[in-house]
Amino acid sequence: MTPEVVIGLEVHAQLLTQSKMFCGCTTAFGAAPNTQTCPVCLGMPGVLPVINRKAVEFAIRTGLALHCTVAPQNRFARKNYFYPDLPKGYQISQYELPICEHGWLDIGQNGTAKRVRIRRAHLEEDAGKNLHEGIAGASHVDLNRAGTPLLEIVTEPDLSSPEEAILYLKSLRDILVYLEVCDGNMEEGSLRCEPNLSLRPAGSKELGTKVELKNINSFRFAKAAMEYEIKRQEKILSEGGKILQETRLWNPDKGETAPMRSKEEAHDYRYFPDPDLVPLRISAEMVEEVRKTLPELPEAMKHRFQEEYRLTEYDAGVLTADKALAKFFEETVQAQAAATGLSAKELGKETSNWVMVELQGLPKDKHSTITPQMLADLLVRKRKGEVSGTSAKTILVTMSTTAQSAAEIIKAKGLTQVSDEGALEKIIDEVIAKNTQQVAQYRSGKEAVFGFFVGQVMKASGGMANPAKVNELLKRKLVG
Ligand code: ADP
Ligand code: ZN
Ligand code: MG
Repeated sequence: MTPEVVIGLEVHAQLLTQSKMFCGCTTAFGAAPNTQTCPVCLGMPGVLPVINRKAVEFAIRTGLALHCTVAPQNRFARKNYFYPDLPKGYQISQYELPICEHGWLDIGQNGTAKRVRIRRAHLEEDAGKNLHEGIAGASHVDLNRAGTPLLEIVTEPDLSSPEEAILYLKSLRDILVYLEVCDGNMEEGSLRCEPNLSLRPAGSKELGTKVELKNINSFRFAKAAMEYEIKRQEKILSEGGKILQETRLWNPDKGETAPMRSKEEAHDYRYFPDPDLVPLRISAEMVEEVRKTLPELPEAMKHRFQEEYRLTEYDAGVLTADKALAKFFEETVQAQAAATGLSAKELGKETSNWVMVELQGLPKDKHSTITPQMLADLLVRKRKGEVSGTSAKTILVTMSTTAQSAAEIIKAKGLTQVSDEGALEKIIDEVIAKNTQQVAQYRSGKEAVFGFFVGQVMKASGGMANPAKVNELLKRKLVG
């Protein structure tokens, strides 16, 4: 019998504050080692930490978006352990009284939603970094990152497959990015995920022994590590063995996990309240103030897009997965609506195609040249029949490299579509005169040759004829 997979995720999100969690040092990335430190984040004796208000606000923002209760009384605790990148010998974290608790996040696609319970989200500080690369016979320590604020978000063991865990992770990442509390970059380590995974006999209520997975810096690795771990545990269990509770490191080169350390217990860390920090009180007023500033979140925006612009769930999902793209789309629709008087429902589908296919199809560095107004102007001209669909695509590509307006490009390239009836009739008459055999076929009821005539006229016009007009005129003329 195949066992059931149980997964709970611990996610560390680096908060986008300007300064560190307990001191004024900058959190900017990429500076020379140890240039962004002070006595507080270096762990010098006699200094006092001060809580970063912005970090608290960001934690509340996230907690509210995840439907958590925000604790009126917070306490910071010292988590004691030894490692060279931890100058104080302890990390300031939260233990018994985390800032957020008991929330949930609905994940799902195609109408099937699953509720993942959030156990807690707490504030803590990051450690520094040990540097080994390019250094022979020694390790160096960079403490620029030491003291950067992190929010650790922990789920209940509610996820039942690697796919589900990834879906959760992506939804959570999108929310954090929308909230502007974290940049969500897994590769750079601003979002780190540690899956806890166990197996149990299908239908069993009890949890099996879990393994925690570390060193994962992409969605792809997260999935691969969980899949590997399932196979490894399955094999042990099927041979009658026991799973050892431990932390295992993902090795991306070998594509496998290897033991890092055996089970650690909370008491190993000797947690105790940090005597340097007074309990942090969060008033109901502050929570309400933060609630007022919450933006529309991806899931809600997706549903609104489906309704308001009459988009499929897929299109709405693609557009709202990226806040900037969603904004671009909405502004493009608004600009067209202002110019044409058409509604969002009428403009939605075509605009989403252009944004998702044509615009996204351009090289990445060329996107920013085109503004929603430029695209809207082009689409309005296309809709009016001033340019053909094919020309509009060419114009967009030119636009992306030259930053010229649609009008300028149309003029320079002579791309104005022929909608003038007189000009079109002349072309059509010629085509009809040249193809008497097909005309006879059409008139004897073989309507399929109609497409042939459209093609011939388009060709004769060098692709410049307005297809709608061509259809209309051809029908009239072919009837004879
Ligand atoms: P630890 O104290 O080792 O960090 P916790 O019980 O606090 O473990 O849980 C950490 C994470 O592991 C949580 O996301 C939780 O949902 C998950 N988890 C706990 N037990 C299991 C289990 N048996 N199988 C899978 N995940 C688990
Ligand atoms: Zn500092
Ligand atoms: Mg853990």
